Amino acid sequence: MSLSVTVIPVTPFQQNCTLLVCEATRRAALVDPGGEPDVLMAALTRAGVTLERVLLTHGHVDHIGAVPALRRRFPVPVEGPHREDAFWIEAVADQARHFGLEDSEPFEPDRWLVHGDTVQVGEETLQVLHCPGHTPGHVVFFHEPGRLALVGDVLFRGSVGRTDFPRGNHGDLIASIRERLLPLGDDVTFIPGHGPRSTFGDERITNPFIGPHP
Ligand SMILES: [Zn+2]
Ligand SMILES: [Zn+2]
Repeated sequence: MSLSVTVIPVTPFQQNCTLLVCEATRRAALVDPGGEPDVLMAALTRAGVTLERVLLTHGHVDHIGAVPALRRRFPVPVEGPHREDAFWIEAVADQARHFGLEDSEPFEPDRWLVHGDTVQVGEETLQVLHCPGHTPGHVVFFHEPGRLALVGDVLFRGSVGRTDFPRGNHGDLIASIRERLLPLGDDVTFIPGHGPRSTFGDERITNPFIGPHP
């Protein structure tokens, strides 16, 4: 595996912004830069990497809040989430006010993602899985060679994403987990949007929200 991973929790929600670095090229992506842009820029400098793109799992403010500030500093493309989350991004300023977070502003991603797309970090390729339920346009990034998934707020260790927001759907969420995530393999480690990492195998057996699964 030549993709290195550093988790940088940001915002009062301790959202797991993740720095992905292609070791061969030292090119990097930030996944879900939800806030604290100065902290994220310092992490890039400290790592000595070149930011190549920003990847977004979904449109909630704690996952996208620092995008405008990063974009002013680095003219890199923003990829994701799925277009179904456009309404969340348009409402980002209201979301920030509602939760008492730093100001943010709406933006248009350079590329909306769909199921089956791939995204690039240097020479490394990640698969895009559309996993609606927490939000309708939520996507997951899967690095097959590294057996690593970045699942945003779809799945957590011992829990699953909230579905009580506008256009959330619990049935869709469980279907996303069962039909799109668990089949990737028990050995896959995932980094959730909040809290500690786990594996799909551990969750398949112990997560009370997923239910029995063959
Ligand atoms: Zn969320
Ligand atoms: Zn979140």
